[in-house]
Amino acid sequence: MLSYEEFCANCDALERRVRAAADACGRDASEIKILPVTKTHPAEVVEYAFRRGFTAVGENRVQEALEKMPLFGGKIEWELIGHLQSNKALRAVENFNRIESVDSEHLLLKLDACARSMGKVQRILLQVNAGNDPAKFGVDAEAAAGLLEAALNCANLSVEGLMTIAPLDSDLDVASRCFGNLRKIRDCLSEKFSVPLSELSMGMSADLERAIAEGSTLIRVGSFLFGSRQ
Ligand SMILES: *Cc1c(COP(=O)(O)O)cnc(C)c1O
Repeated sequence: MLSYEEFCANCDALERRVRAAADACGRDASEIKILPVTKTHPAEVVEYAFRRGFTAVGENRVQEALEKMPLFGGKIEWELIGHLQSNKALRAVENFNRIESVDSEHLLLKLDACARSMGKVQRILLQVNAGNDPAKFGVDAEAAAGLLEAALNCANLSVEGLMTIAPLDSDLDVASRCFGNLRKIRDCLSEKFSVPLSELSMGMSADLERAIAEGSTLIRVGSFLFGSRQ
């Protein structure tokens, strides 16, 4: 496992990358938030993120996150970024501040019912397969409007924006197209339904510059901060 000093050096380097990418497209770097992704890394790195001043971390599996959470007693927020099966919806609503990976109406309705039973309004993002990648979860671009409409009818869900994962491809132009698509889908849905959908969660270690150029407001970064996954 890396040391806290190594982690801080990685954070400094990441902040430089974000500033350079923002400068290159005339954006203010403060519009771009970083979500450290702690999946597969030991719970200690969540403490690193907290010590460095991050207010949230991302995990992709409910069970793995549940094992880490008791060590931090609510000091930090948790975001679920991985595919969620509806049989784990209640555990997710009980424990995650935001669920970024909502990708079906079935899951939406389950989450809404769980949130209602807890008297909670669950913050969510809708995951869109903006790169049309058969290997990725997420609703198709054409089905996104229907999913958003269903979400807006759920009194115990608050839809804050959209999330996507670019296809795994060494050609970064593929990622750019995916991110540009997500932004267009957002602009279109935002106008159609008169909702802000202000969060655009897109960009990871390898493609974050491309995501920032296309309007990302939240980059999810694992390996660049914590090293390659075990
Ligand atoms: C693992 C993961 C990340 C972080 O990926 P890195 O390439 O390690 O930065 C981001 N988003 C999701 C959905 C992930 O599962």
